[in-house]
Amino acid sequence: MGILWLEEVDKDDISIVGGKAANLGELMRLGVPVPDGFVVDAKSFRQFMEVSGLKDEIYHILRNTKVEDLEKLNESSEKIRNLIVSAKMPEELEKEIRTAYRQLCKDYGREVYVAVRSSATAEDLPNASFAGQQDTYLNIYGEDSVVEKVKACWASLFTPRAIYYRVQKGFRHEDVSIAVLVQKMVDSEKSGVMFTSHPTTGEKKSIIEAVFGLGEAIVGGLVIPDTYVYDRISKKLLEIKIGEKKLMITRKDGKNVKIELDPKKANERVLSDEEIKKLVEVGEAIENHYGTPQDVEWAIENNKVFVVQSRPITTIKPKEKTEEVATAGKILVRGIGASPGVASGRVRIIFDVKDISKVEKGDILVTTMTTPDMVPAMERAAAIVTDEGGITCHAAIVSRELGVPAVVGTKNATKVLNENMIVTVDGERGIVYAGRVEGRKEEPKIFTTAPIITATEVKVNLSVPDAAEKVARETNADGVGLFRIEHMVLGLEKHPMKFIKDGEIEKYVDILYKEIRKVVKAFYPKPVWIRTIDAPTDEFRAMVGGEEEPVEANPMLGYRGIRRDLIEVEHLRAEFRAIKKLIDEGFMNIGVMLPLVISPEEVRRAKQIAIEEGLPIDKIDFGIMVEIPAAALIIEDIIKEGIDFVSLGTNDLTQYTLAVDRNNELVAHLYNEFHPAVMKLIERTIKICKEHGVKTSVCGQAGSNPEFVAKLVEMGIDSVSANPDAVHRIRETVARVERKIMLEKLRKI
Ligand code: PEP
Ligand code: MG
Repeated sequence: MGILWLEEVDKDDISIVGGKAANLGELMRLGVPVPDGFVVDAKSFRQFMEVSGLKDEIYHILRNTKVEDLEKLNESSEKIRNLIVSAKMPEELEKEIRTAYRQLCKDYGREVYVAVRSSATAEDLPNASFAGQQDTYLNIYGEDSVVEKVKACWASLFTPRAIYYRVQKGFRHEDVSIAVLVQKMVDSEKSGVMFTSHPTTGEKKSIIEAVFGLGEAIVGGLVIPDTYVYDRISKKLLEIKIGEKKLMITRKDGKNVKIELDPKKANERVLSDEEIKKLVEVGEAIENHYGTPQDVEWAIENNKVFVVQSRPITTIKPKEKTEEVATAGKILVRGIGASPGVASGRVRIIFDVKDISKVEKGDILVTTMTTPDMVPAMERAAAIVTDEGGITCHAAIVSRELGVPAVVGTKNATKVLNENMIVTVDGERGIVYAGRVEGRKEEPKIFTTAPIITATEVKVNLSVPDAAEKVARETNADGVGLFRIEHMVLGLEKHPMKFIKDGEIEKYVDILYKEIRKVVKAFYPKPVWIRTIDAPTDEFRAMVGGEEEPVEANPMLGYRGIRRDLIEVEHLRAEFRAIKKLIDEGFMNIGVMLPLVISPEEVRRAKQIAIEEGLPIDKIDFGIMVEIPAAALIIEDIIKEGIDFVSLGTNDLTQYTLAVDRNNELVAHLYNEFHPAVMKLIERTIKICKEHGVKTSVCGQAGSNPEFVAKLVEMGIDSVSANPDAVHRIRETVARVERKIMLEKLRKI
């Protein structure tokens, strides 16, 4: 008990040394070169808790902490962590740690810099993936510091986030322990990352990115790395792209320093053929051992290759191979590919929502246009096809969130397709084929790697609260940039005004509270911008109690959004009261966003009502959608009312700027978010907001278009909110553009 050397452990020791250390030990056993190190095992932590007498006190504090009460959570966490770092370590253990560190130094003939990393573990729960949540300390030097940092790693088992996470996932705090890995830091001359197989197709082609010095230069996007593509089948180097590596990062006195490289060195090839081969061999051995492609961080010191970390490349989503489909089956109808994926099934045509029970699991739901009360059937459907709608219609938005393929705006699917016929829907190309497309090859998987970090936040749009957990997990988005509550409200048993008229306002508030809570909880502590209701009258009319909705010639230009909420103030008050309940529970990750704003007065009045309902608007984000040209043109006046952010609603901004009804297929060819007039309004809004310190974002459909997002990042937008299926793609775009901007800046220095 106590200290174990890395070479002594393997994957079976996960409950003793945690996932990270077990994985590295396993690699070492495989013969993969891993930097030397030792582990302070998980039992040592338990022993420390016993011997120091802290155990009862700490678990008592935890039992009495309601994690939803954020203030209390923070307070308890701080108290516990202080108790741990200021307690004395058992003498014997401290001695062992000091001895192990001195041994490590002896092996190198000098005092070495080490990384002290947490390696969390849960007994009997080997797959509990919270290992990454605890702290790591780099460049630690000297035995005193090592001992101190071991305690700091222990304490990091009790950060507010870690405590909250365990409660949420139903882990008992007592079942979780923590080991600490102390590992020699590699002074890399060269370093980088390697996908052992192609990250998007899964082909056996290794892709290596390499820079001089430490790998932080790649992670931080400071330089363009070299890229090498090596075919593991033909054993040939297929591609060499030399990047311009204007600087490198090295370690000096325990600190990372940037060194500029002269043009010759900057454009020099980093890896030799030999080194590439060696890396590919190492990668192949790891992939074969684990049976899945790996994302490997590597470094070279004194001509020796080291693996610093290896993780499986996880599947984003098996994507259907549409080429196969395109050549098969007769085309029955075409429309707009609104949600990617391919599915076959039996057609179920629904004209009236009361028939939705006809749709069984795996059927193809065909309808004029989906409505919120069809969501349960949409969840069961293998694919969705509609006559009406464009890329931003209800069917499109919801099916993307549910991950169901969809084709919208076919004009006549409900007429051309027959009940019970078998069809195949290609949601990417917008085509419905006759029959089931047989013999489709196994899908190539799309892989992603550890989250790409971007300065511009990449958030997600959401409208189905029940999809929140899945979307949060699969997209790893930086929050929700637009939560459209109207989809959920339109799916309720009756019109909101009917709740109010029936004297059931509290019931309505409670429904709102419960549904919104699903989203703020799923994303906690990441921000969720809740948009106050915005549905046109024609959509409200279909609800029970909606008979009194006014009939408008142009609902899109009519009684909707904040203009309506400021007349039927009970709506707005109910929404704010639901939000207030969540804030009282400690969900401070909430923002309020007003739709269809055209004047400062609207902001002033909405704020006044928020204050009257007790919302702490100085403590939460309060902002508006800029989706009407008027708002973009007088944004400076609106800013004076005091807003924290604006979010560009490009769907409405485009329709109102160009006078193109976004739901009218007859003018769909004129709908163009890239129109110079729309771009000018956006550019103006971002520029003025930046001058006034107001955050900018986008949540219209354009936020899911990489080309558009590239322009917004160049304009300096602070965050982007995309549809769930587009988050990964947009994050890559954002990272690429940011890297380009940084490089351009560096070149000018
Ligand atoms: C927009 O107008 O761009 C927007 C995001 O709002 P909605 O699509 O809900 O009108
Ligand atoms: Mg809008």
